[in-house]
Amino acid sequence: MKEDSLFDKLSKRGVSRRDFMKFCSAMAATLALPSSFAVQIAEALEKKQKPYAVWLEFQDCAGDSESMLRATKPTIAEILLDVISLEYHETIMAASGKQAEKSLMDVVKNHKGKYFAIVEGAIPKKDGGVYCTIGGRTALDIATEVCGNALVTLAVGSCSSWGGLPSAKPNPTGAVSVKEAVPGITVVNLPGCPMNVENVTATIVHYLTFGTLPPLDSRNRPYFAYGKRIHDNCERRSHYDAGQFVRQWGDEGHRKGWCLYEMGCKGPEAHMNCPTIKWNEGTSWPVQGGHGCIACAADHNWDLMTPFYKRLPKVPGFGVEKTADKIGVGIAAAAAAGVAAHAIAGASKKKESKEQEKG
Ligand code: SF4
Repeated sequence: MKEDSLFDKLSKRGVSRRDFMKFCSAMAATLALPSSFAVQIAEALEKKQKPYAVWLEFQDCAGDSESMLRATKPTIAEILLDVISLEYHETIMAASGKQAEKSLMDVVKNHKGKYFAIVEGAIPKKDGGVYCTIGGRTALDIATEVCGNALVTLAVGSCSSWGGLPSAKPNPTGAVSVKEAVPGITVVNLPGCPMNVENVTATIVHYLTFGTLPPLDSRNRPYFAYGKRIHDNCERRSHYDAGQFVRQWGDEGHRKGWCLYEMGCKGPEAHMNCPTIKWNEGTSWPVQGGHGCIACAADHNWDLMTPFYKRLPKVPGFGVEKTADKIGVGIAAAAAAGVAAHAIAGASKKKESKEQEKG
């Protein structure tokens, strides 16, 4: 019997053709492709067989799983689950115990080199990896086997991408990223705390459409998602440029949506597409909600970007500190000069008109 196409499956779940095309257009936009690629994406998703995927969860808070499951209609998460055949996900699968572990091993054995391994959470290496075990095996052991036999490993969230919170000093369990735990494997890092499900979906969609992974940077992160600074796409940027900063939570600047740099925003040092794709189907993101960026996707932000509520002049590469001051001073000077010029112009006009009245 012919297997239903992806679109057939989505229709049965109440996703209309229009919504499906909207999803494909959104994927093209997320991948920074021209909108004409939506048709190519739709054709590929309709024809391609669903790839197998397993989701491993190690040292983490389940925030990435939550991020995948939290969305509105038609959910990216629903579509993701229809695009891939998710055979194993401890948190959401019905099976448990030996039955669940068997599903995992069946994929490794029967689809070797052809499945996606999606990893959430860091991997502790200290003391032989005893600080995270599942079914009597260490996370290190499981990752070595599962990721070692995968087509590609997607490290979702900061913990699996660079160690995240578990690796913060003094890193008592020796937590590391998947790439560090299992060297030599093909990894796409999708950091963020949590990861954004749209970036995960877009990475898979890119592979299904073009047969390749999206271009990656030196940290194995896709350029489409991590190629630009938060600061450069932030809706508060005009206030930064104008020297208009929030100085205290709840002050007039905060109420007016001014720049959060003085309150510790790390947007100038963070690379991710949060301001453009946002969260919860594009509803909002932290800076829009009035809180500074904590650079959750940046390597070792817990050690290098804290305290989160203070400006950090001494962080290597944090050169904007000087610029912000200069901008502030520059704007104030320009404003003062402008006011003075206006006053002089005003005064001379008044003088002129008085002379004309006299004359
Ligand atoms: Fe936006 Fe933060 Fe940059 Fe200000 S410092 S413009 S709030 S990213």
